[in-house]
Amino acid sequence: MSNPREYLLCSGCGKQTPISQARVRKHCAYCAQIFVDSRFEAHGGEAMTAQTEIVQYHLRMAMIRTVAAYSISAIFAIIAAMIVIFAPESRGVAANLFAGAFLVLALGIAGFTRFLVKAPGLEISGTSQNSI
Ligand SMILES: [Zn+2]
Repeated sequence: MSNPREYLLCSGCGKQTPISQARVRKHCAYCAQIFVDSRFEAHGGEAMTAQTEIVQYHLRMAMIRTVAAYSISAIFAIIAAMIVIFAPESRGVAANLFAGAFLVLALGIAGFTRFLVKAPGLEISGTSQNSI
């Protein structure tokens, strides 16, 4: 087991670079991930306040990220519905295809990793290996 004080853990590839090497090169020896010194210090009462601010900021940004993703997903779903509703009859097939594409985008942004659409003469399904 290597001493963690002598190695820097790369956030890019997970491998350990010796600190003596990392100080000189400033990036990972394996994947060229740049090391950023993101340490901070706080003492006494300031430490608790700083910790609280960090946690609150993290929670606020996580909430904004979630709400923004669902908002964009809802907008895409509305666009898909409007394409179907307002499409001229001569462009019905193209409108359905675009509406389907927008619906798939909306589902993907909302976090669905599998979907299945069944209609007479039509079956669309999709899966994703990646989960965000
Ligand atoms: Zn690396």
